[in-house]
Amino acid sequence: MSVNKNIVLMGPPGGGKGTQAVRLAAELNMKHLATGDLLRAAVAQKSDLGLKVKDILESGGLVSDDIIIALIAEQLDKMGSEQGIILDGFPRTVPQAQALDEMFKNKNNNIDYAIEIEVPDEKIIERITGRFACAKCGKGYHDKFMKPLKEGFCDVCGGNEFSRRKDDNKETVKERLAQYKQMTAPIIPYYQKQGKLVNINGDDEPNTVYQKIVNILLK
Ligand code: AMP
Repeated sequence: MSVNKNIVLMGPPGGGKGTQAVRLAAELNMKHLATGDLLRAAVAQKSDLGLKVKDILESGGLVSDDIIIALIAEQLDKMGSEQGIILDGFPRTVPQAQALDEMFKNKNNNIDYAIEIEVPDEKIIERITGRFACAKCGKGYHDKFMKPLKEGFCDVCGGNEFSRRKDDNKETVKERLAQYKQMTAPIIPYYQKQGKLVNINGDDEPNTVYQKIVNILLK
């Protein structure tokens, strides 16, 4: 099955955007574009971009709009006229949302839905500080909610090395949440005015959240 709607996945850090986006891309043949993943890859490669953004990522602050907009413009350019794009972690400010609309307009395309996954603050810290991933294939896990079936080994590739994001610690999470409230929450009314906003309760089983998103996309 393929879905050709373009969506923005919104919600606080640790709200489950990445988990949902990976599954949507795999099962509905959509294209997942995650600014956080692109930036972490740049940091790992020590590219010019990576060197510029490393400290910002580690502190939980936001990378400047100019840098992020240029990064997304380049990725969307590469995608040409592809449909079924999931934007995960972008936009995070109103200027980014405006720039995104402009980019899609220039391709005679548009964002169909902005899906906000809502999770209460008190759940965020527990979710974020417990997460880790397979160092080889990237499969995500959680100390409490999603342990590998066989302890110490990845369910997908059998790898036995795992990593944690450097910014997944209590202090940085607080800063990321503050940034979310100050800079990102204002894009919720932006999409509401356009009639594109859909709210989903993210304080639920990942599978339930997934089914709700699929129902929206198949409407
Ligand atoms: P994420 O993986 O989406 O949680 O993003 C990790 C970090 O990358 C964020 O805490 C920011 O420092 C940076 N980042 C990702 N996307 C954006 C964006 N759209 N605007 C600004 N900074 C971003």
